Parts: sequence; structure tokens; C-alpha cells
Amino acid sequence: MTWRASVLTLFPAMFPGPLGQSLAGRALETGIWSLDVTNIRDFAQDRHRTVDDTPFGGGAGMVLRPDIVDAAVESVADGRKVVVLTPRGRRFTQVDARRFAAGPGIVLLCGRYEGVDQRVIEARAMDEISIGDYVLSGGELAALVLLDSIVRLLPGVMGAAESAVDESFSTGLLEYPHYTRPAEWQGRRVPDVLLSGNHGAVAAWRQAESERITRERRPDLWAPHASAPIAAP
Ligand code: SAH
Repeated sequence: MTWRASVLTLFPAMFPGPLGQSLAGRALETGIWSLDVTNIRDFAQDRHRTVDDTPFGGGAGMVLRPDIVDAAVESVADGRKVVVLTPRGRRFTQVDARRFAAGPGIVLLCGRYEGVDQRVIEARAMDEISIGDYVLSGGELAALVLLDSIVRLLPGVMGAAESAVDESFSTGLLEYPHYTRPAEWQGRRVPDVLLSGNHGAVAAWRQAESERITRERRPDLWAPHASAPIAAP
């Protein structure tokens, strides 16, 4: 069954954008996933096609109206989870990517200006998701980030060559470093163990490097791992 992505945006020309290329683009062409993009402005009621208004309580910026956003969501609603991209949301992780990839698809609502009226977020029980602690000018790039991370996990998108088993976060650790030919470059040699042909030694070196890098760079990931290691999926 085709995994379905629906995007609600004021800037439909931003899609599929980078997702039309490479792995995701090929998977879109072969029908592993589908993408429909809805212009929120098509649900405006007046002849100026207004979608936003000034915030109650005052302050800068504009807020997307709940009635217009609700009509846009209704036009694609079919039981899939509706996600609103917002810097106030829960931080998106690889665990979320895996969970969405296992489902029927996703509806992504891209905010602009100050964001979306909170009532429609609650009425539709939307998942409020952020991609990180910084502010973008719109939800479109965040939606592309979510889709990229999810689509590559769909069955048949990645070959064995691009396996998701070892990679960063899948075991709760960052991945070990990679090397290819030439074996010596600008006086820098590839670690000897990788040239040894000893698979057990290579695996042990990679595990140790994963642990060292995670401990050094990401104590937040390392702390839960050190007490309860997560097995590879
Ligand atoms: N004033 C708002 C920010 C609005 S940014 C606030 O401080 O919370 C405009 C839109 O960009 C948001 O509605 C959201 O859809 C998107 N956006 C901005 N930063 C984001 C982030 N880190 N993650 C996901 N979406 C983001």
C-alpha cells in the first residue's frame, strides 16, 4: 500500500522540492509513497482570499484562522495523524520517524507568520512537532525534513547498501566514522583495524568508536544508553 503524505501550505510550489530527487524522488515515482499538496488559500472565504488575521490580545504578526485551516484539514482527513509544525512542539526524533513510517501516512500543516490559531490545533488533536530549537520562517522546510527522514525508512526505499540498521540513533548511539580509498591521504592513514579483514575486530572497533563519540558529543544520548542499552531494531 502506498504511504500517503498530505501537506497543507500557503506555498505549494515548495513541494516536492528536494524530495523529488534521489532516494525519495525515485520512491515517489515508483509509488512507494504519494504526495498531495493543498493550498490553504483555496479555503479562504472572501474575494481577497484572506487566510490570517491579527492576534487577539495585540502584538506583532498575523495568525492563521481556525475556520480556514479546519476546512483545509477536512479536505484531506482520512484518519491519519495530523501534525502541525511549530517551534513550540515536542522535538522530532528518529523514534517518531520510525513510528510514522509504520503507519498509513501523515498530514502536515505548515504554519506561517505567527502560527496557527490554537483552537483548531486542539479541536483536531494535532501532534505539535518541532524540528529543533531555532525559528524558521515557515513550516515547509520542517515538513520536508520530517518527510525525508520518514520516507527513507519505508520498505523498498533504501537498498541493503544504504541500510538503516547501524546508523546514528537507531541503537541510541551516534554512528562510528567512515573511511574509503585511498588508504593513505595527505599523510593520514585509515585505522589499521579496518584493513585487517578481521570482522570481529572491525565490529568491536566500530562499537567502541560509537560509544566514545556519543559519550563525548552527546551526553544526553549517552546517559540513558549507559544505564539501559537499546538493542538494534
Ligand atoms: N512566533 C512563533 C514562530 C512562528 S515561525 C513562535 O515563537 O512560536 C512561523 C512558522 O514556521 C510556524 O508556524 C511553524 O509552522 C514554522 N516553524 C518555525 N520554526 C519551526 C521549528 N523549529 N520546527 C517546526 N516548525 C517551525
